[in-house]
Amino acid sequence: MKKQAKYIFVTGGVSSSLGKGIISSSLAKLLQARGFSVTIQKLDPYINVDPGTLNPYEHGECYVTDDGAETDLDLGHYERFSNVPTSQANNVTTGRIYQNVISKERKGEYLGTTVQVIPHITDEIKRLIKLLGETGAYDFVITEIGGTVGDIESFPFIETVRQMKWEMNENCAVIHLTLVPYLKSAGELKTKPTQHSVKTLLEQGVQPDIIVCRTEHHLNEGIRKKIAQFCNVKPSSVVESIDAETIYEVPLLMKEERLDIEVLKKTDTPIPETMDLNNWNNFVNNLKNPKEEVTIALVGKYIELKDAYKSINEAFIHGGAKNQVSVNIKRVNSEVIESKNVGKLLGDVDGVLVAPGFGGRGIDGKIEAIRYARENNIPFLGICLGMQCAAIEFARNVLQLKGAHSTEMDSDTPYPVIDLMENQKKISGLGGTMRLGAYDCKLNKASISYQEYGREAIKERHRHRYEFNNQYREEFIGNGMRVAGVNPDEDLVEIIELTNHPWFVGVQFHPEYKSTVANPHPLFVGFVKASLKHKHNKL
Ligand code: GLN
Repeated sequence: MKKQAKYIFVTGGVSSSLGKGIISSSLAKLLQARGFSVTIQKLDPYINVDPGTLNPYEHGECYVTDDGAETDLDLGHYERFSNVPTSQANNVTTGRIYQNVISKERKGEYLGTTVQVIPHITDEIKRLIKLLGETGAYDFVITEIGGTVGDIESFPFIETVRQMKWEMNENCAVIHLTLVPYLKSAGELKTKPTQHSVKTLLEQGVQPDIIVCRTEHHLNEGIRKKIAQFCNVKPSSVVESIDAETIYEVPLLMKEERLDIEVLKKTDTPIPETMDLNNWNNFVNNLKNPKEEVTIALVGKYIELKDAYKSINEAFIHGGAKNQVSVNIKRVNSEVIESKNVGKLLGDVDGVLVAPGFGGRGIDGKIEAIRYARENNIPFLGICLGMQCAAIEFARNVLQLKGAHSTEMDSDTPYPVIDLMENQKKISGLGGTMRLGAYDCKLNKASISYQEYGREAIKERHRHRYEFNNQYREEFIGNGMRVAGVNPDEDLVEIIELTNHPWFVGVQFHPEYKSTVANPHPLFVGFVKASLKHKHNKL
């Protein structure tokens, strides 16, 4: 039987970066632990059709789903917490909404009427929200509205929430996340910003059902009462969200604050008697009580950006917890690595990861870091561009192919060991045109990757245009490079490894996108384990 989905909206007030994505993900986790099926969606108010063409300085990491959508990094949190894959339908931007409406208008589907924000844009937003609910697969659809209430660009989204609340009554609830700042000079928590932000919501016709207050200090009864009184909610609907040591603790804190119970009550949903958070508790326990530490270098060109390699950082947290070690990530700027300082920069690390990326900036440093890891038997994981650099390094320094390169960086290279895929050569637009999403990969049974995955058939997510050039395959294999994984449909090399190295793996895909708390990615688990072994061998 198809389920009647209930819709939960999460809006934000006072400030951006309060963690709506983590609150949404934590609520999803708690509802799942009570036996409900949940999906989470993000609505982004910007005009780009998707974040695929935004650079990391603008937007942090671009997350990729199985169906090849380039999305907001919050979808990564949704998957890591809920362990449910997301899709194109889980991230919608203003740009996409307008693109859909304008294309309908061009086809004449509005039959000569004037196309307006209300009802046409809001109807399209509603359609895209309900698309998930109408699959019948979910008890709850949690929709996070990007931006802060009061922003001009958020208006059509808030208006849609107003309409849906009006139409759906108890099948819909609104959580408003605000900041309750602590004024040191007054020695007090201040509720006024929250009052004002709820007023802004009310001006747009939306009364929040639950107010989640991000705070550095505990909210006392007085503060809860005050917020309740000014914002027309019960004190039990004022939920404290105190700064946590790790984001993975937030579901446990939200459970203490009964966020899930409040949501179930507001949506007239019977509260199940049991709740199973055992696995989550165990994970947090391992995370907070590591037995050891390993240091892994993350070599990339966006080291100063917190969110540029978000999924890689999180995958290390999952892989570390599984090994009961904490992974200390040493961010190394590939632009400064040279043969004369590489020993100094990487001499103290237990593993080296070379990050994905685009363009030539910092490429020589990446290649140098790989040479160092190869020659010194340091566990190495190369992801996407990191794998391509490993192929270039091998071609130059082992096969002695001077000037070997990827045609992305050097279109005239005499040895194009990484080259554009045939079907990419005729593409001119940049948006959504890479090899994107999940593709099959068959593992070589005599490989490290096979040992880590424990199975032959895998499916991993991609985001690239360039590819290992099969013309060089035999020469690589003949000289100590193992092809550990191949896409069976197009015979593309997906994984390379070194035969005479303890743990050297380069993957054309992005394993980090699929690592979750429930299923830490086997390559990250294996890489951390190999790094730990390397550390012990050094001692
Ligand atoms: N720039 C490379 C390509 O397009 C690698 C992309 C990546 O690392 N995601 O093939």
